[in-house]
Order: sequence, then structure tokens, then C-alpha cells
Amino acid sequence: MPDLARLTGRLRKLELPAEPLRARPRNMDQIADVLQNRKRFPSPVRPQGANSSATRCAKVHGGTALDMSALNRILHLDRRTVTVEAGIRLRDLVRILADRNLELLATDDQLDRSVGGIVSSGSLFSSTAMDEPNLAASVCAIRLVTPRGRALNFNTEKPEMLQLLRQSYGLMGIVYSVTLRVRKQTLYTVRHGKMGFAELAKLVPQLANAKAGVKIYLLPFRNRAFIELRDASMAARPPRTAIWKLGDWLTNKLLPDLVHLLRRVPGRRLRDPLIDGFSEATQALVNTRLVDAGSNAMEQTGKFRRVGADARIQQSTWAFPARDFGAALYSYREYCQRHYKTQGFRCNLPAVVHRLRQDQHALLSPSFDGPAFALSIRTTVTAGWDDFLIDFAAIAAHFGGIPILNQTRGFTPAQATRAYGERLVKFKALRQQMDPQDRLLNQFLAEHIG
Ligand SMILES: Cc1cc2nc3c(=O)[nH]c(=O)nc-3n(C[C@H](O)[C@H](O)[C@H](O)COP(=O)(O)OP(=O)(O)OC[C@H]3O[C@@H](n4cnc5c(N)ncnc54)[C@H](O)[C@@H]3O)c2cc1C
Repeated sequence: MPDLARLTGRLRKLELPAEPLRARPRNMDQIADVLQNRKRFPSPVRPQGANSSATRCAKVHGGTALDMSALNRILHLDRRTVTVEAGIRLRDLVRILADRNLELLATDDQLDRSVGGIVSSGSLFSSTAMDEPNLAASVCAIRLVTPRGRALNFNTEKPEMLQLLRQSYGLMGIVYSVTLRVRKQTLYTVRHGKMGFAELAKLVPQLANAKAGVKIYLLPFRNRAFIELRDASMAARPPRTAIWKLGDWLTNKLLPDLVHLLRRVPGRRLRDPLIDGFSEATQALVNTRLVDAGSNAMEQTGKFRRVGADARIQQSTWAFPARDFGAALYSYREYCQRHYKTQGFRCNLPAVVHRLRQDQHALLSPSFDGPAFALSIRTTVTAGWDDFLIDFAAIAAHFGGIPILNQTRGFTPAQATRAYGERLVKFKALRQQMDPQDRLLNQFLAEHIG
């Protein structure tokens, strides 16, 4: 018989550390206080915007969670730039800009995110030639509180510092405020197409360098791809608000709710055609000529796409260099079918692909070396999801897959090292200089890129 008292004692030692302390600063000095006061606010200190990342990059066990949500003011706004505190939600910022007929040069339809969280991590956007590749690229100034609690300002006069700070996961310091470029609301035209995977794979080289913004929905069990191209030419007429709202409701509310309910239908033969049929019908409806114009501001009127604890949809993303994406597409489709046959798990929502334009504005940009395609796999069913992602990571890595530290679940440190190469070596060295005592480094980031 084991000695129960000793066993319990041992297990206690193995317990996860306590819940993190929470700090909710209301101004920049309070951020500095947290960072300077190591006794009161234990390490690691992790900034959290909306805390919606798909990985544990913003999580802490036993350290200090720095909740940025009270820092939500607009500090300055003119016709060309807006300066905001980092905790402001995208939803609030775009509404204020839209009231003045202005919009951001990037972003997408995930409005619950914080501006600080978006510019400090990897984000997905199907940018046209007149946009920036992502919101971080449109940052022209940052006010940072360093790990030692000093406030510093950086702007375009120090491009190498901005390049280091964009998408740096809060490892170089806490972003207190950012200045983003804005512009007058600008329309784009939208074109749609439907095809099989083979045809899509042939189109990949053209899509990689297209001036249009590229977004694709994939249904691997139906061998179907729905493409949406956004052209940066002036649209003939303004976008129709009601149609965009309908599309938001159909794809982000009705479809996820419906396919989630269908998980209870017994028997694959009955259930799967229903799931795929609804998905295809929704895409066919949304990707129609009815949606022939849009704008970044219009995309951000959606209210049904939710991230965070109460979100129904789970998502994980791998970026692929454009040259490898055609082959990766086939393997993705085959993997989905094989995994379902052998393990009984399949994703019940279409995957979404964003073409990422080449972007060297950030050292850890996933499309630094050239255009890439970000494949976001999505589901509402979680039993079996983690295993699906762990096995998919090996396939993704085989096709040059680039893990995004806040978006990719199931990647290994070796896969990150291979994908980011010398840039990661440089980032690590600079991080150690900026934060020699690891005030901001949590376990996940230490394991994967520390
Ligand atoms: C279901 C689902 C769907 C998603 N869909 C999309 C999508 O369509 N497009 C997309 O781009 N992303 C998507 N994501 C990923 C997620 O929304 C992004 O990671 C988002 O950009 C993070 O914003 P956030 O405010 O939640 O940041 P957080 O998750 O809070 O933080 C992100 C990183 O930035 C750091 N950070 C936060 N604030 C600061 C600050 N002030 N200073 C320094 N560092 C800071 C954090 O420590 C962390 O490392 C999705 C995630 C899920 C779970």
C-alpha cells in the first residue's frame, strides 16, 4: 500500500502554481509601478488585451496578469493618424473613426481584439495593394514601458526599433500607446469564384502576388474552394450594409450554431452531408454577386464574430510560403479525410485562408521572406481537436509551415526555430538585452522562443 500522506505531499508539490495576481493599470505610471515592484507583482508579468490568442502567449500561472482594458482612451486624432491607449477595443476605435468618415489601413472582422494585442502579435488580413499588410505595419509611433519600468518613445526616426517592437508579444516591454495611420474611407470591389482544390492549387502563384486582397474558404470534404477577391479600384456603388450584415449573421452566427447542434445527429452518413451541405450553401449565398463592394470600415460593422472565453469557434492557423502552399493544400485535404477515417474527428466549419502580403515591418512577421497563405482551421467541436492539431503540425512543418506564436496551436520549438531562422536568433538576443531578468517571459514563450 502506498503511503497516502507522502503521496499527497508529493502531488501537492506538482500542483500548478496559484492563480496569477491581476493588475489593471489606469495610466502609464501604474504600468511602471507594476514592473518596478517585483515583490508585490511577481514575475512573469504578461500584458493581456482581449486575451483572445489561440495559444498561451498571454497566459501566466502564478505571475501577474496585466489587464490593459482600462487603458482605452483616444489620445489624439487627425485626418492622417490616430493615437490610442493600447487596451482600446477595435470595435470602439473603428466606430469613432467611421463617425468621421475615416478608417484603418488594415484589420479584419474580429472586433473584440485590443489594438495593443493586435499590433503586438501576428494578425491575418486579406490586404489590397492600397492597404498595409496588417495593422502592426501601420504603426508609426509607440510609447513603451520597458521591463525595468522606464517610459520610452519610438517613431519612424528609429525604424529598426519599430520593426523590433511590432509583433513582439509583449517581450520587449508593455505598449502603453500606439499611433496608427488612418485614411478617408475607401471602397473596394469584390469578385467571387468557386472551384476544386486542383484548380485552386494551379492559381496559387498568381494569387500570391495579386494586387487584390485574397480570402478563400475551403471545404475539404466537398473538394470546394470559394474565393473572394477585393480590388482596390473605386467601386461603382457604395457597399450594401444590409448584405454585409446578413453575411456576418450567416457565417458567424447561424452556421456555427447549426453545425454545433448537428453534432448530436447520430451516424456519420446522415450528419456529414448535413454539415457540408449547410456550409456549402452558406458560402454560396455569401459569395454571390450581391456582395460586389466593401470597405475596411464596412467589414468592421459585424457583431457576431466573437473571440475569447465565450466564443464558440476554435481556430488555429499555419502560414505557408506561397511556393509551398499548392502542395500543402492537397495534403491538408487528404489529412482531413484520413484523420476522420482513422480517428473519428473532423472540423465542422470551413477553413479560411488569407493571403498575407510580404511584410518586413516586423522582425517576427510570418511573411517576412515573401507572400504567404495563412490557413486557419476552424471547428466548434473540441473533443479530438488537440490531437488533430498536433498531427497536422508535422504535415504543416513538412511544407515549410510557419507557426504564428499567438495563432498556431500544437507547434514545437524546433518548428519555430526552423521557420524563423536567423530572425529568431536576433530577436532572442535583443530580448535578453531588453529584459535580462525575464520580467516578461512566461513559460510558453520561454519554451518556444525564449
Ligand atoms: C476563435 C479565434 C478566432 C480568431 N480569429 C482571428 C482572425 O480572424 N484574425 C486574427 O488576426 N486573429 C484571430 N485570432 C487570434 C487572436 O484574436 C489574435 O491573437 C488577436 O490579435 C489578439 O488580440 P488580443 O487583444 O486578444 O491580444 P492578446 O491575446 O491579449 O495578446 C496577444 C499578445 O500580445 C501581447 N500584448 C497584449 N497587449 C499588449 C500590450 N499593450 N503591450 C505589449 N504586448 C501586449 C500579449 O501578451 C500576447 O503575447 C483568433 C483567435 C481565436 C481563438
